[in-house]
Amino acid sequence: GPKTQEDLERSIQFESMARGGGRFPLVFAEGRGATVKDPDGNIYIDITAGVAVNSVGRCNPRVVTAMKAQMDTLMHASDISNVKRSQLGEVIAGIMPGSLKNNCITYFTQGGSGAVETAIKFVRKITGRSQIVAFHGAYHGVWCGSNSLTTGDQYRKGYGPFIPGVIHLPYPYCYRCCFGLKYPDCNLQCAQYVDYVLNTPYTGADDVGALIIEAQQGEGGYLPPPPGYLSIVKKACEKHGALYISDEVQAGAGRTGKMWCIEHSDVEPDMITWGKGMGGDVPMAGLSIRKDLAEHIEDHSQPNTFAGNAVNAVACMTNIEILTENDHALIKRAGTVGEEILTYLQKEAESIDIIGDVRGRGFMIGIEMVKDKESREPLENDKVVSMIMAMLGKGLVMVPCGRFGNVFRFMPSLIITRNHARISADILLETAREIQN
Ligand code: PMP
Repeated sequence: GPKTQEDLERSIQFESMARGGGRFPLVFAEGRGATVKDPDGNIYIDITAGVAVNSVGRCNPRVVTAMKAQMDTLMHASDISNVKRSQLGEVIAGIMPGSLKNNCITYFTQGGSGAVETAIKFVRKITGRSQIVAFHGAYHGVWCGSNSLTTGDQYRKGYGPFIPGVIHLPYPYCYRCCFGLKYPDCNLQCAQYVDYVLNTPYTGADDVGALIIEAQQGEGGYLPPPPGYLSIVKKACEKHGALYISDEVQAGAGRTGKMWCIEHSDVEPDMITWGKGMGGDVPMAGLSIRKDLAEHIEDHSQPNTFAGNAVNAVACMTNIEILTENDHALIKRAGTVGEEILTYLQKEAESIDIIGDVRGRGFMIGIEMVKDKESREPLENDKVVSMIMAMLGKGLVMVPCGRFGNVFRFMPSLIITRNHARISADILLETAREIQN
């Protein structure tokens, strides 16, 4: 509509979003729950949840009420603590998995990139080692350190040199296994390879302080690792004496049916980076590290002016309350409804030649588009764009990810109704059938 057009023009003229974020032909004016409205009044189902952010729905009334009350009380405190910030630290410690539970210190940041930057610095200081292992397809942020861990031409070409000591190893991408193998006959060759690189002489990985990995890869294509993979990787870290960092920025906050995605495995990470869905509608992120590791970090060595803002801390705590109340009911529901949608999409996709693979857990489902099932070649970019436009025309906001930009991601707010979830799946399937013909 005309108002959207006007706003898009302004965006392109004056700010980075239309450029940095891609020229997506939509502008948000209002948001409620799992839906958004553009300036012309058109309402859409937002299956992206602001890229895995609005975990308890946009403008959740409970969050808004709590924030408003805090706005009248205290907002900013900077390098002096504030009541809400310290309370949030305690709440975060209480929901951490494994050995971090009630045994961690949290360093707040304004976004996931900042959390990863902090992790990189701390690993060096704590371990005295210089190398970090990351994975093919990884996305950990866009600042100098985190960008060095991130893969993808658009993030890397022309932005180097990157920080030294980063080693990238293959992430399990079963649909396109780089070893040409098939689970479970593969015997988890990809995990064995991580162990081989870390624990064999002359591989060059002789001074690794930490390994950072997404428990389900996000931007790289919504890839859940095969069962058992992460355990082998963790053991390889222990053998080498390297720390294990679980980047839960995208897969955490209940998205995959557990509070933390790593909880689908038996791995106890040493550090967790979190963000996105934890803040819900506002910037709130952080790095949580085991207490004994925090002993190595000097006081006042990591100031951050706006981190731990009291209003955002209240938003985050209210989010966590909604996510975890009634024995994690909302998170469990995401697991159940996600499983239903996954099964449905997989079944329907059997008869659609341009859907190659449907995978994921909870509300983190990837639908990989291909030219045809036989060749598995990624669907051409112009066809992906046509699908996005067609879905938008049918009232569905959908953004892709993946190394070839051909993976649609089903990642709604956890509060989405079954009905809206199913309608969204049907719009995707119908659009795929149309594009194929
Ligand atoms: N880590 C992961 C796994 C992410 O998905 C992202 C964002 N896509 C980041 C880190 C960076 O977070 P932010 O954009 O908040 O800096």
